[in-house]
Amino acid sequence: MKLYAPSTIADIKERYNFQLSKSLGQNFITDRSIIERIVEGSGTGENDLVIEIGPGIGVLTAEAAQAAARVIAVEIDKKLIPILAETLAEYDNVSVINQDILKTDVNKIIADERAAGSFTGAVRVIGNLPYYITTPIIMGLLENGVNADSITVMMQKEVADRIKAAPGNKTYGAISAAVQYYCTVEQIAAVPKEVFVPRPKVDSAVLKLNIRKEKPVELVDEKLFFACIKAGFGQRRKTLLNSLTGVAGLSKEEIKTVLCNAGIDPVRRAETLDMAEFAAVANEAAYRSRRQNNG
Ligand code: SAM
Repeated sequence: MKLYAPSTIADIKERYNFQLSKSLGQNFITDRSIIERIVEGSGTGENDLVIEIGPGIGVLTAEAAQAAARVIAVEIDKKLIPILAETLAEYDNVSVINQDILKTDVNKIIADERAAGSFTGAVRVIGNLPYYITTPIIMGLLENGVNADSITVMMQKEVADRIKAAPGNKTYGAISAAVQYYCTVEQIAAVPKEVFVPRPKVDSAVLKLNIRKEKPVELVDEKLFFACIKAGFGQRRKTLLNSLTGVAGLSKEEIKTVLCNAGIDPVRRAETLDMAEFAAVANEAAYRSRRQNNG
């Protein structure tokens, strides 16, 4: 069965009386080459565990099942569960969990699978993400310290552009700095909107986020680093002197000293700072606020 064929999707809809849900971001892939590129691009090998987010009717799941030792797919829509039982019947290494990915303890799944001996290799997260929650899904995995090697996911092109943007670029923002702190980022594919059913309004792209084994900068206080990024980009047109005032309880005068000690001109804007510079600012702010709190 060609799962990705529009005629298959139409047939499944009719037999199961299934309606595609816009609010769940259900835009299914109908192009075999994109499916192959996501699974191949994820680097999935025969000893690996794949965690798939939002399998839909199982197009990526079936491809992953052929490449990996084990596949766990997390799908929120209970109406898709009997459909997936049919479309994935031939694969004995796949399990579908009917759950919200945002409420799923992914590290527990990984630990349980490892303990059960169902895989011995890497952990690959893949998916054609429901676009309405792209950022919460990615940031949730990263902030919770997901024990995976990579996250290879399709998203709106505009979001992909922001995530992969370099400092100085107009699209460089808090999400770029945050994701790039946890991962190196590579684009696997640019995907036109025509390959989906139903067709979304915008084009897509597939990014592979390689989770860093070691952090790229040394931080005194990780939370403060993210607070600086948030404050800096929260008012991105303001100078750093103004946008960072108040961070860690520091006054404008103190932020000026922090920036000078970090070697950053206070009139620069957040979008011009690279990761090492953000780290320098955050570390100086941490020292200063600690000194202040210690009297
Ligand atoms: N993988 C399929 C494909 O590429 O054709 C479907 C992708 S579709 C863009 C997104 C899928 O994520 C849908 O099946 C949708 O029901 C599911 N989904 C939406 N919100 C979810 C959530 N919070 N947790 C898990 N799955 C979710």
